[in-house]
Amino acid sequence: MSATILDGKQLAADMRADIARQVAKLTLDTGVIPGLGVILIGADPASTSYVTAKEKACVEAGMYSQDVRVPAETTQKEALSLVCRMNADSRIHGILVQLPLPKHIDETAVINAIVPEKDVDGFTPVNIGRMIVGETCFLPCTPHGIIQMLLKAGVQTSGKHAVVVGRSNIVGKPVANLLMRKAEGGNATVTVCHTGTRDLAAFTRQADILVVAAGRPNTITGDMIKPGAVIIDVGVNRIPDATKKNGFRLSGDVDFDSAKEVAALITPVPGGVGPMTITMLLYNTLESARRASAGA
Ligand code: NAP
Repeated sequence: MSATILDGKQLAADMRADIARQVAKLTLDTGVIPGLGVILIGADPASTSYVTAKEKACVEAGMYSQDVRVPAETTQKEALSLVCRMNADSRIHGILVQLPLPKHIDETAVINAIVPEKDVDGFTPVNIGRMIVGETCFLPCTPHGIIQMLLKAGVQTSGKHAVVVGRSNIVGKPVANLLMRKAEGGNATVTVCHTGTRDLAAFTRQADILVVAAGRPNTITGDMIKPGAVIIDVGVNRIPDATKKNGFRLSGDVDFDSAKEVAALITPVPGGVGPMTITMLLYNTLESARRASAGA
């Protein structure tokens, strides 16, 4: 058996075209142009490339993009004041602080300084709390993108066993929460695995839907997958590769070649979850602008 590839790039392109239409309509109807403020501290190559991709997507969707790139030596006080400036800027409806921040800056303090109405990454405790209790909020982009992929691919989640590998605040915990919500794209029975899990394969082999966000290549191999499962590979790992112009290739957390022989549906890396994450950021920024234009 060879799995069907779940093409996040195509799905994201379709959704972005729709978002661009909605941006144009909002601007025409209300004069409001959705705006995203992006703060990049330092010049980490992976972060720089994410930020560049996010800004490009923003402009392509007809949104206003404010890009602030400052050196790694920026102090915590300066970082906080950049966030405060964007909080007060009415052209900006969503704020994104690219993580990770340099070690001397308290990441939690900077993220928590973003007002919840502009927290389009959905990372602040207020947004996460609202998500958990089922109130209106901005859903975190990667987990929300994963749910959208499952829905658009017609994957039934209700009643299924979903296993999530990873318990980070930005992927593992929120995606587990969304999968167990009593809502469309949820209602699954969810198991969360982490480095404290004994015998990972015993759990992953039970998964109808397996979401892997471990940050380690080959965490999951074909023999750890239930035949016919749906595999969502969130991992993005840079593997040194002298044959590539930039000196590396991207790999997920799942061994794609062995997994695709067992799974029914699988996301590739790159071109799977990644493009959906950026799309959901645009989606949240549009939603924030809509709320602002309605005076919500
Ligand atoms: P993270 O904060 O490093 O968390 C990794 C999680 O995986 C931790 O909970 C860790 O367990 C668990 N883990 C690691 N190795 C494991 C193993 N062998 N068995 C079981 N659990 C294991 O990473 P993250 O921020 O969630 O990101 C995960 C991956 O997704 C990274 O490759 C990241 O680059 C990628 N990512 C991609 C996107 C996208 O848009 N495509 C977005 C975000 C992240 P402990 O808690 O016990 O340490």
